[in-house]
Amino acid sequence: MRDPAVAAVIEWWSANARALPWRATRDVYAVWVSEVMSSQTTVARSAAAWERWMRRWPTVHALATASLTDVLAEWHGLGYPRRARDLHRSARIVAASGWPDDLTQLPGVGAYVAAAIRCFALQEPVLPVDVNVRRVLDRRLPGGIDIAGDPWRAGQAIMEFGQRICAARPRCGECPVSDGCPTVGALGGAAAARSAPRARSAPGPGAASLPVRRRRPYEGSVRQRRGRLLGRVLAEGVVELAADDREAARGLVADGLAFLDDAGRLRTPD
Ligand code: SF4
Repeated sequence: MRDPAVAAVIEWWSANARALPWRATRDVYAVWVSEVMSSQTTVARSAAAWERWMRRWPTVHALATASLTDVLAEWHGLGYPRRARDLHRSARIVAASGWPDDLTQLPGVGAYVAAAIRCFALQEPVLPVDVNVRRVLDRRLPGGIDIAGDPWRAGQAIMEFGQRICAARPRCGECPVSDGCPTVGALGGAAAARSAPRARSAPGPGAASLPVRRRRPYEGSVRQRRGRLLGRVLAEGVVELAADDREAARGLVADGLAFLDDAGRLRTPD
């Protein structure tokens, strides 16, 4: 790598990389599943789920022959089940017509996932820019980077560096590229305080430039009610709806995850 900061991040990663099962493969389908799973689910949960998934449906053709009900049941617990629906729809398109040149033509494949497949499966010099990579670029490599030469390792390294070191709350005290970092200077003592295990200081003035996104509470949300209702439908096949199930049921039907029969009961999609 020509950029010494990128080379240093790769060196840090080589000594500290997490063991993730999908890093052993360059198969397009396997990488695609891993990226979709881990996009909104923790890496630890995704890793176990990915291994189960790949044992059950090891190829895109195997997934294409599965029922949507089985796919949703396997996915259940990972959250955001439209991801599973889109994987299934896309698998059927690929099984029928092959992989499109432009992967974003597949349902659920956006610019990030397409770039991740190109980098982590096809090993093309295309950096997939998720929120963690974007943060690293903004803070430490604002001029952008060229990952030609070793795109797979560079992409993996920068992504994990953004997850674990240059995180929303940066661990500047452990950072291998803190020398010359313009952002650590802007943060002053705040970043160092955040990286210390028992730090409790108030954010410094520079912290305003590094917002920490707050999640909406899951408890009591429509998303929680939808998840519970989908779980019941997948387990029981058919569910008599209570009055307070109706909003969640409408959402599941609109998303193609379940359907209402003539008696107004919620059923699995196939
Ligand atoms: S010094 Fe801090 S802000 Fe700069 S790259 Fe390292 S972790 Fe990120």
